[in-house]
Amino acid sequence: MCQIKMSANSMKKPGTHITAQKRSHGSHDRNEVQYNGLKNQGATCYLNAVLQCLFMTPEFRKAVGRYKAPGDCGEENLLLQLQKLFTKLSENAATTEGITRSLGIRHVYEQQDAVEYYRKILKAVGTHASKVFEGKMNNITKCGQCGNETPEISTFISILLSIDAGNDKYDMEKSLKTFFEHSKLEEDDWMYCERCDHKTETETWSKIDEYPTVLTLHLKRFDFDYIQMIYKKNECRLDVPLSLPKEDNWPIYELYAVINHMGGYSSGHYNTIIRSFENGIWYCFDDYNVTQTSEASLENSSLPYMLMYRKSALSPGSIKTAVLNPDNIKTAVLNPDNIKTAVLNPDNIKMATLNPDSIHQPMRILLTGPSRAGKSTVGNIILGGNYFPSKTGVETVTKESMRA
Ligand SMILES: [Zn+2]
Repeated sequence: MCQIKMSANSMKKPGTHITAQKRSHGSHDRNEVQYNGLKNQGATCYLNAVLQCLFMTPEFRKAVGRYKAPGDCGEENLLLQLQKLFTKLSENAATTEGITRSLGIRHVYEQQDAVEYYRKILKAVGTHASKVFEGKMNNITKCGQCGNETPEISTFISILLSIDAGNDKYDMEKSLKTFFEHSKLEEDDWMYCERCDHKTETETWSKIDEYPTVLTLHLKRFDFDYIQMIYKKNECRLDVPLSLPKEDNWPIYELYAVINHMGGYSSGHYNTIIRSFENGIWYCFDDYNVTQTSEASLENSSLPYMLMYRKSALSPGSIKTAVLNPDNIKTAVLNPDNIKTAVLNPDNIKMATLNPDSIHQPMRILLTGPSRAGKSTVGNIILGGNYFPSKTGVETVTKESMRA
């Protein structure tokens, strides 16, 4: 696993502004985390794409790591196979034979749908491991006559967004908004109202009752064409939003993984673009190959198929001071839209990453942590891609100082 260097050779006086005391941080320094690829067994890139997303979701990785397989469980136990895979993948490139066996995939030369396998895997591992992806959706029906509302709450692990044909560019934010809009049912579909005791004009809509930690969206790129009797792919382009709009009471969601699909319905190829939770760098996972990339690869692209957003820990825009006292967090990603002070108590934090674009005002960062056995537990900060050790713990950050 990753080791972040803890050298702290630039002591700063409390309260002083950070001046860019740059160390030699070429690509070597930023490459301290090594990610590994997965072998394609034939056409199993759909599976590799999903597995890398799951591996790069720390809560899921942790849940898999903690799993204790019962002695009598067979080799086909999926959680056990995931555990073996993740252990291997942490150190080396890995193969997925154990996974395909436990998922009952016999035809490894047949292309399958990544979203379908994302859902299949989460269902198979059970709610303990999959809960980070789960939210609660309330599907409400309302009688147009008496106003009686009937809620129906269900668990969801992804939201399917439709794509209108004929549009040059897909507006995902608009599509997400549409998903939650109220609609009136056709008369044939009117529902029975208990109060009115007959079928009445019905209005329906959905709203999220419990926001998932990881919100997964997938785009309805494949649609059945009843004239040609085949599935057709909608290849419209979009700029993948790096964060979801702050609407109503929505928490802030930040993009961290995108599964790309290239090619047609029954053939094609998948890869995944993932922002590492360990160093904040974007990587492209393409079977065996893992390369660094940037979010620019998600602009004006016709490939995105499934997107994963993480609920920001520092969500509400009105928070002025955020105190992080995480048990075992190794990396904290701050998106401090309105945060004036972030207090990190990094017992185990090794690194905090700040997004310079979101620093609108000077922000004070306090890193506080007791030293233990003569070792400082205070971590390092990465500012705008630059690497600053911070031993004393108090730094004031502005957009300018980050860019210096
Ligand atoms: Zn009614």
